[in-house]
Amino acid sequence: MPPRVTCYGGVGEIGGNKFILEDEGVKVVLDFGTGFSEGSDYYDSSISPRGVNGAGDLFEFDLLPQLPGLYAEESLQNTHLRYTEPEYDAVVLSHYHSDHTGRIGFVDGKIPVYCGETTSLIHDAYSDSTGSPLDGHPIMRFRTGDKFRIGPMEFHPIHVDHSIPGAYGFVIHTSGGTIAYTGDFRFHGPAGSMTRDFVDAAKLEKPRLLLTEGTRVSPEDEASNMSETAVRTEALKMVLGTKSLVFSTFRGNDVDRVNTFFDACRASGRRLVVSMKVAVLLEKLRADKRLRVPRVGRDVDVYLRRKKTGKFDDSDYYTWERPFIAKGLTAEDIRKMQGKVFLHLEAWNFPELIDIKPDRGGTYIHAATEAFNEEGEKEETLIRNWVEHVGFRYAQLHASGHALGREVGELVGQISARKVVPVHTEHPELFKRFDRTGGWRLDPPVKGKAISLAP
Ligand SMILES: [Zn+2]
Ligand SMILES: [Zn+2]
Repeated sequence: MPPRVTCYGGVGEIGGNKFILEDEGVKVVLDFGTGFSEGSDYYDSSISPRGVNGAGDLFEFDLLPQLPGLYAEESLQNTHLRYTEPEYDAVVLSHYHSDHTGRIGFVDGKIPVYCGETTSLIHDAYSDSTGSPLDGHPIMRFRTGDKFRIGPMEFHPIHVDHSIPGAYGFVIHTSGGTIAYTGDFRFHGPAGSMTRDFVDAAKLEKPRLLLTEGTRVSPEDEASNMSETAVRTEALKMVLGTKSLVFSTFRGNDVDRVNTFFDACRASGRRLVVSMKVAVLLEKLRADKRLRVPRVGRDVDVYLRRKKTGKFDDSDYYTWERPFIAKGLTAEDIRKMQGKVFLHLEAWNFPELIDIKPDRGGTYIHAATEAFNEEGEKEETLIRNWVEHVGFRYAQLHASGHALGREVGELVGQISARKVVPVHTEHPELFKRFDRTGGWRLDPPVKGKAISLAP
């Protein structure tokens, strides 16, 4: 049988990538994440799948493929799928975003996870703090330029630029031709040339099949991008124009964004203050000499939340949090130095503002994607209410982690694979518009239906 790819997630949706590659009886899982709106007809922030029921609460609504030999024994305890020894040889991971990693926690811990060296540092940081879906799996690390073999398949990981460090695309040689998989990518980020490296490498191999993301391929294509440099320029203007506190919501594992705000702070004489979870991550990532990462304690400070007794006792905190207690800044500290602080505050931490009691007239920067679904809109309303309550101005400032629709089209044209399978997009059918020469066949994926590499 010729090699084949089956998509179980990332089909007509943004995120949730779950692909199975099969070649000569060897099976590899390529990303295994949680979709952003996956299961939203049944689950949301108020009704969630029960941890105690393993994969059962997801199988119920077909949110996880029921594949024998993939899951851990504990995941299957209350399901009709019987546990068998692993039939899968590896999970290969493009990058550490939950829409690519989120379901790995259900997978049999005997199956190794292949990931980039930086991804393994991010995994270590989460593993040490709040837990990681990769916990319990043997980890096999790679860098650009490495090659690794899983049965008849040879994987060439090539870095791409994205909104988290350590993101990769892959060129995969199988017994029946080459597959290219982009992972998530952008060209307008600080390391856009890395994505170009991937395109160049993929193009040379004349792939039979291209699995490409298309997050921003949509009927109303945006014409331009805000770059990370523009975010820094705008942020600096806002910070310089604010006398009291500046606080912002952004993804703490987006190291480019951390650097952007760190730079704006340095240029304006403010201190960047992050959560303990982000502090752990920054400390781990300093081991990667190729990354620029601000130093905790010297470049950035850590916010110390009140917990349990409310008296900042060691015993109120987890072991991983304790090293930050002595030097942490409390709500009172932040209030005293509010004109000199830029505080990273996730929405679920907004009640801290009640303790901080900032003076009116500060600035809030929403440095994340704008709401794209009902739940997001609900959260945005809550955020706006809080910002209004403290009398701050609301600003939206964000550089996307994904390429523009037209740039995706250019990538497809340049790589010029025989079959194009659009994933991680709500509009796979729109890829038709990129085919100007009729040189390739569009193969929009169908959940659970294998796509053969045969010509
Ligand atoms: Zn993604
Ligand atoms: Zn991503």
